[in-house]
Amino acid sequence: MRSLSKIWMDGKLVDWDEAKIHVLTHGLHYGYAVFEGIRCFATPRGPAIFRLPEHIERFLNSAKIYRMALPYSQKELERACADLVAQNKVNECYIRPIAFSAYGEMGLSPLKNKISVAIACWEWGAYLGKDSADRGVKATISSWVRIDSKSLPIQAKCAANYANSALAKMEALSGGYDEAIMLNSVGVVAEGPGENIFRVKDDILSTPPASSGILRGITRDTVIQFAADNGIKFFRNDSTREELYTSDELFFAGTAAGLARIREVDGRPIGTGKYPITAKLQKLYDDATHGKAKRYEKWLRYVSR
Ligand code: PMP
Repeated sequence: MRSLSKIWMDGKLVDWDEAKIHVLTHGLHYGYAVFEGIRCFATPRGPAIFRLPEHIERFLNSAKIYRMALPYSQKELERACADLVAQNKVNECYIRPIAFSAYGEMGLSPLKNKISVAIACWEWGAYLGKDSADRGVKATISSWVRIDSKSLPIQAKCAANYANSALAKMEALSGGYDEAIMLNSVGVVAEGPGENIFRVKDDILSTPPASSGILRGITRDTVIQFAADNGIKFFRNDSTREELYTSDELFFAGTAAGLARIREVDGRPIGTGKYPITAKLQKLYDDATHGKAKRYEKWLRYVSR
């Protein structure tokens, strides 16, 4: 990782190398931290953060689910993200707000501890690799079952959830794949460890419903709006593992990954290798995020330097 200049910590901009916490930070030991993943893209009018209010709203909701009282408002956090990108003088970056139970009392309950909030940003290319958009990635069905909301609230982006994701990711990588696809506890397709999944069959686009136990991704929502605005037939429906194998097109959608084609699942090539609907959605996403689509400019927060 290439270091940038500043990190926002509890309301102050501190030098990158000084953004440190104590080893007995409560959130580090018990996974009691909630975070967001946001992207800022280069546009003809300078850097712009994509769907910032929606991400900060989800951040505040994650905190609320975990009974964390954050001492900052939605607007203050949005401004902090924009200021941070401006301070670091980058055109494109990934932005990571995190709230966690700080150093104080040990033991499971965080209730006596202060909640710290930090925001960092860094330059980060396509999470699943630079070829993931066009050539696509190789995925495998994970043996790890996606956590479900009877055990952990999955609409909260809590650090603890990502232990389940990391197990699936490591399993996929060590098997020679690029990414995992996780099924839920009844064996129905849920999502990737850090992305939602979309399928195309007979010109119909579909994605698992929230009830299948997924994070309601903001990129997923963006794709759903593109489909509605562009006459692409779309349903939220469950699919099984074998329905993935026989799809015409498959792709992951997430802030870090963008829209990444899946070219193979468990060694089975997907469709004919042509991705016309995915390509259309990728172009819409690329244009919307890079300030080339008037209709979607409402989703951009320009960063003034
Ligand atoms: N599912 C999981 C488990 C994730 O971590 C993410 C990334 N936040 C997503 C889906 C995609 O969400 P988004 O499009 O909001 O980044």
